[in-house]
Amino acid sequence: MKADLLIKNATQLITVKSDKPKIRRKMRELGIINNGSVAVRNNRIFRVDKKINIDAKKSIDASNKIVMPGFVDCHTHLVFSGSRENELKMKLEGKTYLEILESGGGIYSTVNRTREADVKELVALGLSRLDGMLLNGTTTVEAKSGYGLNTKDEIKCLKVINELDKKHVIDVVPTFLGAHAIPSEFKSNPDKYVNLIISDMLPRIGSLAEFCDVFCEKNVFTIEQAKKILNEGKKFGLIPKMHADELYCTGGAELASETGCISADHLLRASDKGIKKMAKKGVIGVLLPGTSFTTMEKYADARKYINYGLAVALASDFNPNCWVNNMGFIIALACYNMKMTPAEAISASTINAAFAINREKEIGSLEVGKKADIIILNVPNYESIPYKLGMGIVDTVIKNGRVVVENGKIV
Ligand SMILES: [Zn+2]
Repeated sequence: MKADLLIKNATQLITVKSDKPKIRRKMRELGIINNGSVAVRNNRIFRVDKKINIDAKKSIDASNKIVMPGFVDCHTHLVFSGSRENELKMKLEGKTYLEILESGGGIYSTVNRTREADVKELVALGLSRLDGMLLNGTTTVEAKSGYGLNTKDEIKCLKVINELDKKHVIDVVPTFLGAHAIPSEFKSNPDKYVNLIISDMLPRIGSLAEFCDVFCEKNVFTIEQAKKILNEGKKFGLIPKMHADELYCTGGAELASETGCISADHLLRASDKGIKKMAKKGVIGVLLPGTSFTTMEKYADARKYINYGLAVALASDFNPNCWVNNMGFIIALACYNMKMTPAEAISASTINAAFAINREKEIGSLEVGKKADIIILNVPNYESIPYKLGMGIVDTVIKNGRVVVENGKIV
């Protein structure tokens, strides 16, 4: 029996092996094999061991490097046109996200640009953003719609996301987020927009999305509206997800547990009761420290949540208000600002993130039978990931068993 690819002599082979979302102390167990090897056959992981005696068509020596599963970026707003670097000055003057939003900036300027853009432009933008993510070791990305905010443009954005999945080596997992903001034309009657989502958008989505997400927040979508949309989405086979308790505590974490959400994301201001409820129901808590960093907001209390038994995942939240495509940087923010240990942050960016997007059987760890999504980093140990800040430590990326990044360059 011959392998297609053999990676050997990894100083640390970080398997992150687990068949359940990692919680509490398990988040610190990375299943490390020192001087480890991994063999790939037919795009899948074929063997994981210290030494593998097998002939291989291609072999990579990973001495002085670490080998681990590709990062799973389980919360992004990948598809939009335009950029908003002009808002930094407003933020520095102390304007809040909601104040910038109310002054017609923020998300509305992105919605206008995205509505004007055609599929071709959005696909081209998405492909180049995905290249940037791949170079930083991300091999699977969840991507939300949500800058169309009408039936035509929400469907357009979901089509773009599906197109990106076909065209790029990164797997792109689609989420419908028609409930991202109340479009300005519905400002005086938000319920009318909720009805549009329910009666016009959801029936037309079909297989264009796997998840239905709602930005549940004060002055955006209320708990009642979120509940209605998520329950209606379930009728169309969409798994519920939520943006919950980011700016105000509105009971989002509680609703996520009650509606059977696969994840609730942000959670900066979630109640203790809500977090405990999520932990009990196995809802993944996706924390987004990049957003806290760019909005100069507080950070979610990861230490407390982990103590409560919440399975914590991390994601970039890539969007025009948080332009970050580097999960290594997100891991650093999680360590320095949320006091997660490097091992916890790695579990959160791989296996737990895979659970947050229903991909745990395929990706998120180096285990026999899973997709061969593997990265080789130019550092001798995993603690160096948050330590070497923004250093471009990704040497090789293997996606579906194929080398797609070599010496830090796309091949
Ligand atoms: Zn988001």
